Amino acid sequence: MLPSFLIGVIDLVAERSGRKTVVDFKTSGSSYDGFEAELSDQLTAYKLAEPDAEELAFCVLVKTKEPKIEWHTTRRNGDQLSEYLAKVGYVARDIGSSKFYKRPGMWCSWCDFRPVCLGDRKKAAETLIHVP
Ligand code: SF4
Repeated sequence: MLPSFLIGVIDLVAERSGRKTVVDFKTSGSSYDGFEAELSDQLTAYKLAEPDAEELAFCVLVKTKEPKIEWHTTRRNGDQLSEYLAKVGYVARDIGSSKFYKRPGMWCSWCDFRPVCLGDRKKAAETLIHVP
């Protein structure tokens, strides 16, 4: 079973060096290694949302002593999209059968579902909406 929809907001779709590129802005305390864009599920999902985009990119503001901006561009082929969709299918199946796995990390600090993970039912009821 594949999800009927994914919800997300792309930061920017722009033409870079004559190529339609989906750009996601990041901030980081250190340089990216390069594999982040290659392995990014987020960029893979954006390729599905913008199938005619030729490139996908992280534009990273590196907040070191001398701040700089890094571009990390990548592409996705059909096999990579199929692999991602298979993974999304597994996750969707688990969600459909009410199985949720906590995957704690720094991203918890901006996660809307943190009240659920922390067992704060009152806050969850105040901040989350139910999509039928
Ligand atoms: S707070 Fe969000 S990101 Fe962290 S484990 Fe829970 S669901 Fe996952």
